[in-house]
Amino acid sequence: MNIILLGPPGAGKGTQAKHLTNTFGLKQLSTGDMLRAAIEGGSNLGKQVQLIVDAGDLVPDNIMIEMITTRITRADCAGGFILDGFPRTVLQAETLHEVLSLKKIKIDHVIALDVKLDSLLGRIRNRALEAPEDQRRQDDDEKTLKHRLSVYKEQTAPVLPYYEKLGVLKTLDGMLTPDEVSKKINEVLAE
Ligand code: ADP
Repeated sequence: MNIILLGPPGAGKGTQAKHLTNTFGLKQLSTGDMLRAAIEGGSNLGKQVQLIVDAGDLVPDNIMIEMITTRITRADCAGGFILDGFPRTVLQAETLHEVLSLKKIKIDHVIALDVKLDSLLGRIRNRALEAPEDQRRQDDDEKTLKHRLSVYKEQTAPVLPYYEKLGVLKTLDGMLTPDEVSKKINEVLAE
């Protein structure tokens, strides 16, 4: 079973991806985590993307597409994967669709977590406060946060109608508690 999780920063994608990993043994592919690991590790890729990620802008599509298509075909994804943080532009969604059809890999569910944008600032502020100091994200500061939300509105929100047109999008209320959202996700997967 392969799943795409969509939703703005702070919607709970990471939390629900972990639920899916624990419950169904799916591999979580978080592009944000992959980029942060590359930055932390000081690789060429990390150096290339650091300023972009810290500023809350999107890493160029070609880099992200290359990163995710290489990753998706590795053996640990054969039992199913969850995409968390990808696709983030319509071009990424279209290219993913093409690459997966060539490889005969099917996306079974596209789930969007719907959260009021004005509640997100508070959620991410809390996440930043709760994180141990050494794990705090550079891009969780106030100014960058607002920028990430506007980048979401402009570049990522159009991915939802793309999947809606394909008839595969399920939108769930992301304002519920994490457990309630997990239950709703389980219901979608059981359909
Ligand atoms: P959040 O969902 O909390 O905004 P992520 O951890 O998913 O954060 O991503 C952090 C940052 O990594 C993004 O702000 C962006 O700079 C970069 N990034 C992650 N995924 C992508 C992607 N698919 N395309 C472009 N940039 C990405």
